[in-house]
Amino acid sequence: MDETQLRLDGNAAAGLLREVFVQELTAARGACGSCGTIAAMGAQHLYMYPQSPGAVVRCSTCQDVLMVLVHAGGRYRLGLQGLRWLEVRDPAEAAQEA
Ligand SMILES: [Zn+2]
Repeated sequence: MDETQLRLDGNAAAGLLREVFVQELTAARGACGSCGTIAAMGAQHLYMYPQSPGAVVRCSTCQDVLMVLVHAGGRYRLGLQGLRWLEVRDPAEAAQEA
């Protein structure tokens, strides 16, 4: 079996994406791509001005940009350029541990 036999188009990820993007994300942990700090998104620094269409989340350790979120023109645009990874806890598994 070669690699192309395992490849699907991106639409096959719809279920996984739907599970991740309905979660409360302030508790999600992320790794800063610049300094490597791992922290909850809710513990990072948010820069957002009244009446602005978006927000910038910066690393609380090195101040590099982790995430940019803009809501304008009937769309949300999410840039995760400063995150090495983002980890969202599966609520079903968390409930089993409680
Ligand atoms: Zn950092």
